[in-house]
Parts: sequence; C-alpha cells; structure tokens
Amino acid sequence: MAEKIQMKVPLVEMDGDEMTRVIWQQIKDILLTPYIDLKTEYYDLGLKKRDETNDQITIQAAEATKKYGVAVKCATITPNAQRVKEYNLKQMWKSPNGTIRAILDGTVFRTPIIVKNIKPFVKTWDKPITIARHAYGDIYKGVEMKINTKGKAELIFTDQDGHVTKEVIHDFDGSGIIMGMYNLNKSIESFARACFNYALDQRQDLWFATKDTISKKYHHTFKDIFQEIYEKEYHDKFSAAGIEYFYTLIDDAVARVIRSSGGFIWACKNYDGDVMSDMIAAAFGSLAMMKSVLVSPEGYYEYEAAHGTVTRHYYQYLKGQETSTNPVATLFAWTSALRKRGELDGINELVQFSDKLEQAAIDTIEAGIMTKDLALLAKGDKKVVNTGEFLEEINARLEHGTR
Ligand code: NAP
Ligand code: MG
Repeated sequence: MAEKIQMKVPLVEMDGDEMTRVIWQQIKDILLTPYIDLKTEYYDLGLKKRDETNDQITIQAAEATKKYGVAVKCATITPNAQRVKEYNLKQMWKSPNGTIRAILDGTVFRTPIIVKNIKPFVKTWDKPITIARHAYGDIYKGVEMKINTKGKAELIFTDQDGHVTKEVIHDFDGSGIIMGMYNLNKSIESFARACFNYALDQRQDLWFATKDTISKKYHHTFKDIFQEIYEKEYHDKFSAAGIEYFYTLIDDAVARVIRSSGGFIWACKNYDGDVMSDMIAAAFGSLAMMKSVLVSPEGYYEYEAAHGTVTRHYYQYLKGQETSTNPVATLFAWTSALRKRGELDGINELVQFSDKLEQAAIDTIEAGIMTKDLALLAKGDKKVVNTGEFLEEINARLEHGTR
C-alpha cells in the first residue's frame, strides 16, 4: 500500500454515544487509519464523560473548534428523565448540539446524500436541496397567553429611559390566544453571513423567503438584513462564483422548490426550517442519508450526521445481535471534515481521498449492497449487509479505485 496521507492541522474529533459510537470506531479502523495518518484532537462527548466533567468537555470541544476551524461530531444522547436514570447522571445535561451552536453562533445546513437507485418522492429533484435553518428566536422563544374573558391585548416596549411604545393587538370580546416573540438583528446578520458563506463554499445558489408582504416589520427585517449584507459584502463574490442570491415570498418558494431540479441552498426562518427540513428529508428518502454541518459566521465548520444515536439498534447490539445500521451519514461527516481540512491546509491528497471514499460508498449502494433501511427504499437488485460488511464493501471499492 502507498504511504499514508499526512495531515498538518488536527481535526477536532467529538466522539459520541450508543450505536453511532460503535460505527465511529469502525469507520476509523476500516476506512480512515489505513490510509491517513489521522491527526485529531479527541474530545469524548459520550454521556458518561460529559457527566464526569460536568459537561465542560462539550465546551472545550467547541472552543477547540474555534481554534482549529474544523470539527467532526458523532451523534450524542440529549438526556431526558429516563437517561438520567439509565446513566445515573448528576443532572439532566443540555443538548451538546445546543451548547456547541451557542458557542459557535452557527447555522445548521442539512443536505441529502443522493444515490441513483433511491428516487426522491419528487421526480424532478435530481440534485440535493440543502436547508439552512435559523436556529434562534421566533416562536421557540415566544411568550404565550390564553385569554378567557373580554379585554384588550397590547404590545408594549419600555426603553431604558422608561419611554413607552404601544400597539393594540386586539380588543377581545371573549376567549382567545396571544403570543409575543422576538428576534435580534445580530442573530439574523450571523444567519445571513453563514448562509452567504456556505453558498460560496458550495458554489450553489442561495434562496431565502419570508412573508414580508404580511409581516411588514418582523419578516421584512429579515429580508432587509439579508439584502443589505448581500449587496455590501457578497454581491461581487457571488458574481465571481457564478451563483445568485434569490429572495421570494415563502409560498412562492415552496411552489418553486417542488418544481425545481434541486442543487441550491434554501435558507429558512426558524419555524419554516423546522418544518421544511423534515419535509425535505422525508421526500429524499431517509434520515440515515442526511448530512449536517454547523457553519459559524467566522467560517468554522462542524460536520455530523443528521440522525441520532440509533438507540434501538444499540440495544440489539448489546444483546449480541447483528445490526444493519447505516453508517453513510457518519462517514460523510468524516469525509466532509477531512476535505475541508485538506482545502484549508492545501493537502490535495486529502481532498482527493475524501472524494474517492464518498464515491466508493455511493458505488457500493448503487451496486445494490446496502443496509436494511435502504433496502426498503431502493429499486433493483439488492443485498442486505450488516454495518461492518457494508464498510468492508466500501473499502474493497476504495482500494480498487486507488490502485
Ligand atoms: P435516531 O437515533 O435518529 O433513530 C430513530 C430511528 O430512525 C431508528 O430507530 C432507526 O429506525 C432510524 N435510523 C436513524 N438513523 C439510522 C441509521 N443510521 N441507520 C438505520 N436506521 C436509522 O433518533 P432517536 O431514536 O429519536 O434518538 C436516539 C438518541 O439520539 C436520543 O438519545 C437523542 O437524544 C439522540 N439524538 C442525537 C442527535 C445528534 O446528536 N445530532 C440527533 C437526534 C437524536 P428503526 O428503529 O426503524 O430501524
Ligand atoms: Mg422538527
């Protein structure tokens, strides 16, 4: 075998939980360390370690991402009451993804991995559609009230000098509901920059949509901030890259997305992104084939799979049963992170290796060899294999391709 590919700057490696932790090690053993002199700064975000360190390990991992610029993360358990018992936790630690996102101030981009023998439900989509969700504010930080009697609801803002601005929301005749929500210009600006940067990184058009004709201040502010930042900072870069920024109304966007052939990034407000990302994932076929990357406005990247730790499979694995868990999204988190490292450090072999490894995985599935979840969706001949066998099949194609 040829000499191993050398790295210059370490990747921030964030290990995780359950089935994905098992797959994590298998991917490294079978597909990475035989080819790359893998340089990582390792952070164990497994729930046990988070508990031992009072979750400081998560913060350290996020800080390391700021230092080095590129991280790869395994799926992790977000504890609930049942997990607190199961792992005998000191407390119900927060979602690691939430903690990391807050530190990096990032936006999450989700993209399906496409193979020829799994057709999306929308026939025209032959290229992936990436959803960028603004993960801050709006109804997720809303304040709500149920009204049970006659009365007047008002929106009141008191500034720091005690000056009051008021708007009547509604004069209630009887029962009803009200909600107050907010967002911050700073957060919208970060979101916009993350989207523009990612569009340039991917060389894909960026779409953004709101309902600014109805919400003339709230939604319109999103539109205005995007437009202003685009004109000041990105217009020329977009022209040079041959891509465009396109704004439209959300209902028009939905109609256009359905008729499109894909191949663009769709930036969504928080709620829209929540809804549309599940729609896109389901329409493309499988959560196990969704990539996810957190991009900060400064250009730090954290790659992961969109799915969780696949707990049901892990309990089978613990009983010694064979599992056919799909490792593709986790593998693509690694290849994406290695490619980005290669690009940043000028290591061409690393970029090429990532491309080849992804192609080998796609070729394996297109040859009909796949995990159980995909066999339910794929057309044509297929052979169902377990996770280890699947990774070995990819390796066989990778070796073949590199010789
Ligand atoms: P999940 O791990 O995504 O799995 C849900 C189901 O989807 C699985 O039971 C399996 O269906 C299918 N599935 C998901 N990924 C698969 C894969 N790679 N291969 C084959 N099938 C796959 O979601 P969950 O069960 O709701 O959550 C489990 C744990 O993950 C929770 O503790 C949660 O906190 C955590 N989580 C973490 C992240 C993250 O770190 N980013 C995201 C989401 C959830 P079948 O059982 O039908 O085979
Ligand atoms: Mg959702």
